[in-house]
Amino acid sequence: MSLRFDNSFAALPAAFYTRQDPVPVRAPRLVAWNADLARLLGLSQEDFADAAAVFAGNAVPEGAQPLAQLYAGHQFGNWNPQLGDGRAILLGEVLGADGLRRDIQLKGSGRTPYSRGGDGRAWLGPVLREYVVSEAMHALGVPTTRALAAVETGEVVLREGPLPGAVLTRIAASHLRVGTFQVFAARGQIAELKTLTDYAIARHYPRAQGPMGLLRAVRDAQARLVAQWMSLGFIHGVMNTDNCAISGETIDYGPCAFMDTYHPDTVYSSIDRFGRYAYSNQPDIAVWNLAQLATALIRQMEDRDAAVEEATEIVHAMPALLREAWLARFRAKLGLATAQDGDEGLISDLLARMAANQADFTNTFRALAGTAARDQFTDPAAFDAWADGWRQRLAREPDPQGLMRAANPAFIPRNHRVEQMIEAAVRGDYAPFQRLNAVLARPFDDQPDARDLTHPPQDDEVVQATFCGT
Ligand code: AMP
Ligand code: MG
Repeated sequence: MSLRFDNSFAALPAAFYTRQDPVPVRAPRLVAWNADLARLLGLSQEDFADAAAVFAGNAVPEGAQPLAQLYAGHQFGNWNPQLGDGRAILLGEVLGADGLRRDIQLKGSGRTPYSRGGDGRAWLGPVLREYVVSEAMHALGVPTTRALAAVETGEVVLREGPLPGAVLTRIAASHLRVGTFQVFAARGQIAELKTLTDYAIARHYPRAQGPMGLLRAVRDAQARLVAQWMSLGFIHGVMNTDNCAISGETIDYGPCAFMDTYHPDTVYSSIDRFGRYAYSNQPDIAVWNLAQLATALIRQMEDRDAAVEEATEIVHAMPALLREAWLARFRAKLGLATAQDGDEGLISDLLARMAANQADFTNTFRALAGTAARDQFTDPAAFDAWADGWRQRLAREPDPQGLMRAANPAFIPRNHRVEQMIEAAVRGDYAPFQRLNAVLARPFDDQPDARDLTHPPQDDEVVQATFCGT
């Protein structure tokens, strides 16, 4: 395989991971291959022949140094001192044609020392869900891990019942998480914490100065990221600190979902019983997660009091940054290139009316550039009353139509379509998977042949809850 590995994480001290090969599977069958991403990573057509074996974990490619990473994390606010890759293996890193360094990770690749009770496996559903949704996020312009390949293992995985097993090949700027810092801080392993901090700075934010510089850079990246999620109606679903990437990429697509009908309290995840990770809580949780990173980073500082003061200031500035990034995103959604005082009120008023009128989030914003947005409201007059003020505000804007069409996608991976795609794939029919990927690769283009994919679910298609599938 022509992957040219250049592994920096494996060169860190042994405390950071456990060397572990993926566990081979019975009958690997390549079911998805991301040709564009493969090219970016330096893979050629000849590599295709080896893809099933390599991306199932049956053949370890030359130059790979397979390992399971150690981390900890707060899960739903509760401290878990020991997590780690329980069903994932980092093969190593490659430098892409664009010069960027990326992790190549197998997810669902068998047990590791961090598996606890788990089987180390994934079933096909979450693998294809992550494939489709992460690639859709990429096409929407959101920083995210990506999907290179999916392999069916030919083995059965036991979840609610027997299900087909699969392995996802995930590509990421890195798999460093808030929880990667937390584990060493909590154990008082200060030398490792310092090494990790230097490593993260060099890898992701080479201009950042010291631990507090890193904290600031992660804050800015996370604020931009979460504002972008909000602007697309995306709900991550499980924003635990171990699922919060230092790089600022969206990571760990478990019970995530895009909203159909807009409501700020929307929760899909079956395990989020108290709505901690509800749509409108995401900015607050991003701040909470940053505070956990701050707490971990401080442990290495000589002058603890000064560090606490500086970290507090950095974290306390995050809500304003989130709000600014949110405003910029939603202004664009309304076609506003300029900033004016009443803008926040204008946006909030629209959202409140959308919530009261069961408006579809994606279709309402997409329709703003046309004439049909009012049809999304149970009481179209509620939209008209808002739109008067909006149109007056638009009069002072240079190119609102262009701005809106570039900020408001026509296509998102709607939950019911993702579920239908999974059901088809389990039956061996990958046509819906191929079609979803093809359409979602161009989310801002009107694609008349795919109009059905813009429709919200029929009553009998509504997905009430999503699952981690672990
Ligand atoms: P996640 O929900 O994907 O963020 O996973 C949380 C933790 O559980 C991580 O440490 C995972 O590696 C671990 N985990 C999840 N599913 C499994 C599984 N099937 N087998 C072993 N470990 C798992
Ligand atoms: Mg995770």
